[in-house]
Amino acid sequence: MHNYDSKNIDLSGKTILVTGAGDGIGRVAALHYAQAGATVILLGRTTRKLEAVYDEIMAAGGPEPAIVPLDMKGATKTHYQGLNATIIEQFGKLDGLLNNASLLGVLSPFETIDSDSWNDLMQVNVTAQFLLTQALMPALKKAPHASIIFTSSGVGRRGRAFWGPYAVSKFATEGLAQVMADEYEDSSIRVNVINPGATRTSMRARAYPGEDPMRLKTASELMPLYLYLMSDASIEVNGESLDAQ
Ligand code: NDP
Repeated sequence: MHNYDSKNIDLSGKTILVTGAGDGIGRVAALHYAQAGATVILLGRTTRKLEAVYDEIMAAGGPEPAIVPLDMKGATKTHYQGLNATIIEQFGKLDGLLNNASLLGVLSPFETIDSDSWNDLMQVNVTAQFLLTQALMPALKKAPHASIIFTSSGVGRRGRAFWGPYAVSKFATEGLAQVMADEYEDSSIRVNVINPGATRTSMRARAYPGEDPMRLKTASELMPLYLYLMSDASIEVNGESLDAQ
């Protein structure tokens, strides 16, 4: 694992939106950002899970988070533009955006990929991230230094049998991040990608049902990179695709 020094990272005064904040890596990232002093906006599709994260942050004495229950499968540009307006009104700016929510879909041979599940997965993993990120640009531009993180995967760099639409969606994620990083190179906005690597979450358990989860890294162990990329320590880092493990 790389040695990203996250011990003294201070995110106080920053507002950070995390998608898929109710479970898995997104949940743990939201808790760590709050612990480092950030006001976290928790976006996800299951309100009960978001409320549990809210409670955990409050119990730990962190800044009061905001909850945005939203299913990114059906959300439109209008929803995201409304969110941008609310963020500017309530917080004045957005310092960080962690695009983390994703669907795994069904791993299957190429010839049995169902076109409806293909479209649903592309909608959540690619189109919704594009729409959300585009709509939040005004709020991100109001921050002195804003960090956008996209989440990829090993199969987003080298395709593998049966990973079909999920792998394709992660290549698209890497592509969108590269385009944006180049376009915003001389601006206050930086765009990078994290590949978490095999991590003990329910998504990983669905992909590898026979695997012993205790042999995998926990989401907490990935946090040095997640914290570093949201902090001012990484202001000069742009257009990188980094491994958390
Ligand atoms: P999980 O499935 O554990 O968590 C994903 C989160 O995204 C959940 O909170 C889920 O909500 C939310 N989500 C899914 N669909 C939607 C939607 N339509 N609208 C809003 N929120 C949604 O996944 P991980 O934590 O394992 O993965 C996080 C990221 O890391 C993903 O991008 C994944 O592709 C990537 N990754 C993970 C690896 C691993 O080994 N775990 C390896 C490589 C990459 P809900 O809880 O309601 O289902």
